[in-house]
Amino acid sequence: MKHLVMLGAGHAHVHLLSTLTTQALAGVEITLIAPYPRQLYSGMVPGFVAGHYAFEDCVIPLEPFLKNTSVTWLRHNATALDAAQRTVTLDDGQNIPYDVLSINSGPVQDRQKIEQLMPGAAEHALFVRPIERFAALWPKVVAMGQQKPLRFAIIGGGAAGFELACAVTHRLPAASVTLLSGDTPVGANYPTAVQAMMVQALKARHITVLQTSACALTAGEVSLSSGARLACDVPIIAIGAHAPGWLQGSGLALDEQGFVAVDVFQRSTSHPHVFAAGDVTSRQDVSLPKSGVYAVRAGAPLTRNLRAVLAGIQPAPYIPPKKTLNLLSCGSRHAIASWGNWSAQGRWVWWLKNRIDRGFIKKYSV
Ligand SMILES: Cc1cc2nc3c(=O)[nH]c(=O)nc-3n(C[C@H](O)[C@H](O)[C@H](O)COP(=O)(O)OP(=O)(O)OC[C@H]3O[C@@H](n4cnc5c(N)ncnc54)[C@H](O)[C@@H]3O)c2cc1C
Repeated sequence: MKHLVMLGAGHAHVHLLSTLTTQALAGVEITLIAPYPRQLYSGMVPGFVAGHYAFEDCVIPLEPFLKNTSVTWLRHNATALDAAQRTVTLDDGQNIPYDVLSINSGPVQDRQKIEQLMPGAAEHALFVRPIERFAALWPKVVAMGQQKPLRFAIIGGGAAGFELACAVTHRLPAASVTLLSGDTPVGANYPTAVQAMMVQALKARHITVLQTSACALTAGEVSLSSGARLACDVPIIAIGAHAPGWLQGSGLALDEQGFVAVDVFQRSTSHPHVFAAGDVTSRQDVSLPKSGVYAVRAGAPLTRNLRAVLAGIQPAPYIPPKKTLNLLSCGSRHAIASWGNWSAQGRWVWWLKNRIDRGFIKKYSV
């Protein structure tokens, strides 16, 4: 028997698990390391914050896969990896040996790095990752917001910060929301037309946008790099998709930011028996943004290549699409779409996003 260890139950691994229900891997023992009995689909989290979805609408339960396959689930976080010894260490100290390892554990918000940038963040802010923890805390914030109007500061002007600012305003109309976009404008990675739509959407929802950084947090206040101080009840940190710290010292080849360096086969450039997909990786042959869309797309090729190497067959190259459809929800069942330099917005875009997102959950709900 060969031993395949799946580290993390991210988007690509959900696909692999789904294929195992109909096509078992003969002669392979499979272990899944995942801290939660479900995968929370981040694309629907702003809709959950806005109140469009219940928590259950946004998750893919793992249990049906586990019931219908011989996969052993270890409900733990991985805390270390020794690529030379081929072992993964768990948060309870167990060492799990593997013949082939597949990593799909996503990015983290490194509390230490963020605390260095903004002292007080670890104590006073709500972090969007782990998304599970954020989603568990959100209903408590809503309950508080229904007692008295709250002042929110969303720190981070990327897609997540934008969507969350709009969603908060929709869920809690009495709240005041400020979006801090750091030293770049909101949506700086998007084409200018999309940036303009994002600014227009924020304005229409009375969200204050400040192109400045938060540099310290205390109870009830965010200090800004401009020298001003912002009164705030709920600071939400929506910056930083960092590589997990446990990859350092694993022996795997990593990129400059610490993400797993993978090749055209989604295989580690240093250790051929290690594969990886999603935001935890960095393709060395092509530059890809970190996004759920690319993580989902990597599911099928990762599955094919793991099946191939476990059967002693050569893996096949996977060329990701150059452009993907990006959909940004604006809180009030209105959304912005972009594909390369093309963009559009409206209620029909939200309808499309809702259909795609619900379709994704349905596809993997056994
Ligand atoms: C609020 C918000 C909204 C977003 N909206 C969109 C969107 O609309 N479209 C889009 O393309 N992208 C979106 N993103 C980005 C998207 O979340 C990521 O790109 C995507 O989640 C990456 O997928 P992944 O499969 O690599 O990892 P993840 O989805 O993070 O999955 C990783 C899994 O591994 C588990 N895990 C983590 N650490 C460990 C460990 N040490 N051991 C074992 N298991 C572990 C986690 O619990 C999780 O289940 C959004 C992000 C946020 C924060």
